[in-house]
Amino acid sequence: MQKIIFATGNKNKLKEAAEILGGKYELVTAAEAGITEDIPETSDTIEGNASQKSHYLWKKTSMACFADDTGLEVEALGGRPGVYSARYAGDAKDSKANMEKLLSELEGEKNRNARFRTVISLITGGKEYLFEGILKGRITESQRGNAGFGYDPVFMPEGYDKTLAEMPLHEKNLISHRGIAVRKLAEFLNRD
Ligand code: IMP
Repeated sequence: MQKIIFATGNKNKLKEAAEILGGKYELVTAAEAGITEDIPETSDTIEGNASQKSHYLWKKTSMACFADDTGLEVEALGGRPGVYSARYAGDAKDSKANMEKLLSELEGEKNRNARFRTVISLITGGKEYLFEGILKGRITESQRGNAGFGYDPVFMPEGYDKTLAEMPLHEKNLISHRGIAVRKLAEFLNRD
């Protein structure tokens, strides 16, 4: 089985990606590939961060690797928090604090439209390939549900009456931004 490094320390993301990629590839974390330091992520765009992380791993390991970066883009906030979604409420990267800040910024706001955007950068054989996934929806008035992570409890996908945190993982994977991007990656990896 071919090993492929996923530049994440996030167990949820690893599980989501493993479920979609299937049994053909052995997904290993950066730590399992011997990269224990924090991988730099200093770009001001989502694709820039994904690319920076995969290039870092490639340079260190010369193994097939991919990295993702995700942002929540809220229409009424001009696309914020976007690339700064993780640190929206500060360096602690606290999901609860992030959601509270978001709900308070949107207090009284009628336009709740938002989207999650994921970009995956894959490097294999020294070449880079980008895959994008978008999930449209709206920001709820309060937090709902306990599943998932990050902003899931305040994000209701278009056409649904429940938040991402009220869905089981496989249902979220079917529609999610990262699910879409990972399926594009899987299609590419499983071609021929
Ligand atoms: P990252 O690029 O994956 O580190 O994510 C940036 C921010 O978006 C973090 O605050 C994550 O918690 C959040 N985030 C990423 N993916 C998801 C998701 O699938 N659901 C909810 N929040 C997410």
